[in-house]
This record gives sequence, C-alpha cells and structure tokens, in this order.
Amino acid sequence: MPESLYKNAVSQLKEVAKLLKLSKKEVDYLSKPERFHKNTLRVKMDNGAIRQFKAFRSQHNSARGPYKGGIRFHPQVSQDEVMALSMWMSWKTAVVGIPYGGGKGGVVVDPGELSVGELERLSRTYAGWAGKFIGPWTDVPAPDVNTDSQVMAWMVDEIEKTQTSKTQKLQVNPRATFTGKPLEIGGSQGREEATGLGGFYTLEKLTHHSSLVTRNSTIAVQGIGNVGYWFAKFVSDGGYKVVAISDSKGGVYNPKGIDLEKVMEHKKKTGSVLGLYHELTNQELITLNVDVLVPAALENVITGENAKDVKAKVIIELANGPVAPKADEILLRRKILSVPDVLANAGGVTVSYFEWVQNLSGYYWEKQEVFEKLKIIMDRAFAEMWHVHLDKPRLSLRMCAYINAVSKVVSVMRVLGRI
Ligand code: NAD
Repeated sequence: MPESLYKNAVSQLKEVAKLLKLSKKEVDYLSKPERFHKNTLRVKMDNGAIRQFKAFRSQHNSARGPYKGGIRFHPQVSQDEVMALSMWMSWKTAVVGIPYGGGKGGVVVDPGELSVGELERLSRTYAGWAGKFIGPWTDVPAPDVNTDSQVMAWMVDEIEKTQTSKTQKLQVNPRATFTGKPLEIGGSQGREEATGLGGFYTLEKLTHHSSLVTRNSTIAVQGIGNVGYWFAKFVSDGGYKVVAISDSKGGVYNPKGIDLEKVMEHKKKTGSVLGLYHELTNQELITLNVDVLVPAALENVITGENAKDVKAKVIIELANGPVAPKADEILLRRKILSVPDVLANAGGVTVSYFEWVQNLSGYYWEKQEVFEKLKIIMDRAFAEMWHVHLDKPRLSLRMCAYINAVSKVVSVMRVLGRI
C-alpha cells in the first residue's frame, strides 16, 4: 500500500495547527478540500474505440483567491494524491503571498501510450468537463507532470468554444482560465526561467542571512531539466560553483566546476550528461560532499535511509516533495537546512500569477520586468519564513513556511466569517 500523501498533508497541518492554537473546527475545515470533482472521461481513440479515463479536480481553499494548481497526466494519479497536492498549493500560494487559493487536477493515464491526436482529445474532454467549475475568478489550472503549454492551448481553445455567451465573453478574458500557455496566446515572458530563477533568488537570500552558504559554496543539482537547468545557469552566472549535475541516466562531477553549456551541448548530441567528467549515480549525487544539494527532478529522493549520509549543509527543494517526511526529521536533527518546496520552487506559480494579471489587464510585460517583480515576491516570502525561523529555530524551515502560510489562510477565513 503506497504511503498516503493526503495523510501526510493532514498530519503536517495538525502539527502547524497545534503551534498556532487553531480550533478543531478550523482544522477540520482545512483538512478537506472545499470541493472535490471527479468524473470518468470518455475519449475516442485513433482506432475508433472509446476509452475511459478517471479524472479529478480538487479545490482545497479559496479564501485568498481563486483555486490555483496544475493538472497532471500520470498512471499513478489518485484522489488521495490530488487532494494532498491541492492542500499544499493553498500553502504555496500563501507562502509567496499571491492572491490565490489551492487546487490540483489530474487524469489517470500514461500519456506516453497516446498519440498526439488522442492526447489532444483527452485534454479537450477534460477542459469541457472542468469548464463548469474552473475560470479566471474561480479556479485557474496550469501544466504539471506530463502536461505542457500545448495541453494548456488545447484546453483554452475548448473553453473558448464552449463559453460562447456574449456576457461571458464581455466579462473577462477566457484565456485567463489557464496559465502556462504558449506566448502566442497570452503566456508570460520569463515563465520558462521562473522556477529556476526563484530558486536562485532563494539561494541569494540564504547567502545573505546564513553562514552556511557563501559565494564559494559548491552546488550539486539533481535533474537538469527545465527547473534544474535554469537554476544551474543563474547560479553559475551569479558566481557560485556547480560541481555536479545529473539527468535520469546518471550524473557528472568535477570539483573544479562544471561547464554547463558544454554539458548541455553534449546532452543534446548524446542524450545524456554522461561522458565529459567523472561519472556518478543519482544516489551518489545525493550524498556528495558539497555545500548545497538541489534536488530538481523527482519526489522522495532524500529518504529515511539516505538522509543520514547527506553531507550538504543546505538543501534547496526545487522538485516537489523531494524530501520524504522521515528524512525531514533526520535532517532537522543533523542541523541541515532544507528550504522547502513551497518556497524554493514557488517562482513558477508566481510567474503564472503574473500571466493571469497580464491576461486580465491586456498589458504585457518585458522579461526584465517579470524577473524584477519575481525577485520582490521571492525575497519577501523568504524574509517572512526566516522571521519565523529566527523566532523558532528548533523548527524545520518547512514548518516555518507552513506556520506563515496557514496563519494567512486562517486570518482571511476569519475576516470573511467562513470559520
Ligand atoms: P523536466 O521534465 O523538464 O526535467 C526533469 C529532469 O529530471 C530531466 O532532466 C530528467 O532527465 C531528470 N530526471 C528524471 N528522472 C531522474 C532521476 N531518476 N534522477 C535524476 N534525474 C532525473 O521537469 P521540470 O519542469 O524541470 O520539473 C522538475 C521538478 O520540479 C518536478 O518535481 C516538478 O514537479 C518541479 N516543479 C517544476 C516547476 C516548473 O515550473 N517546471 C514548478 C514547480 C515545481
């Protein structure tokens, strides 16, 4: 039986609730999504057969604004997972102080088995169903695991076709229903770099506030995809030394520093980062002797088993959920600072928010403006978390970020009279 993510999310909430002295009513309210939608989607395959797919959308909390969160296409998607992820989105949007709540959606499917046409029909069917309860002022989905800007474009098109009434069109730009769109249909400049750049801003703040990181610190990045690449690029340009990087096939290590562009060129030609420097496995990368470890690929890579062997002084969680709950306890005991995903990778959702603002106002910003505005938000979010950390140094940074987030959500709910 796989570990229940939802149970983990609720037990984290209860821990925070104890510290904040929340009432039972408040905890009960926040433990469950406000609304949960599920359906069986029927999609025509290329061979003419109709296939059924389970689909979900969890709307956890809307006190601070419309629900916000991605739609993932994956065989392991479940109600449990979608509910947990929607709760974590409520905390993430509150951590960075953007006016959204938390939501998450998913379809149980291995998209690798679908043709492009089948994927398009599945995406359109999901949007046609979800169109009843998503929209710019209710719930704003985005890409997630195995969904991308093309999937968002199909969903936008479907929503635009179905919401044909004149009032709907006059009221608001229907494209603001989704973020993570291609630039041509209202995507934001800088969205591609946003999550890695947000991680870099976080590292800069740590360098300023903590003696554990300096500009001479060595850094290992697991996963050189969108997030890992941009993070590595910004930190290398910023003068830090990236000494190890990896992809799904393994990693490379050079204590003198990795030439990122050379490795990326090599990966383009050969399909992996292997070959240019000393090679190591992804497990070895986690326990490498570096100052900063940056998991930027998968969840649960730092576990109850390997956390005792981590040598880094600081972890920056750019992937979602890379540190398992059991590892959290060990890292805390060993005084390794782990900057939680809800802050470290929130650059992505923040620029998604910028995209929505631009769509609603019809005024589009230059990339530089996006980067500057992102820095203001990430710096403020870091300062708020650090403030709690200085006050409660025995807590993990994750708990500090959650305390800040949950108290923001609860205070809005109290003002609104919802609890
Ligand atoms: P991506 O698909 O672009 O890149 C993933 C990278 O991880 C690839 O380089 C892949 O080779 C590598 N990888 C796969 N399996 C691996 C393994 N076993 N060991 C090491 N590396 C492995 O994905 P991404 O958009 O960069 O997302 C990475 C993580 O960041 C995910 O956890 C995602 O949920 C999270 N995240 C992404 C964003 C975003 O804006 N893209 C925002 C917030 C969080």
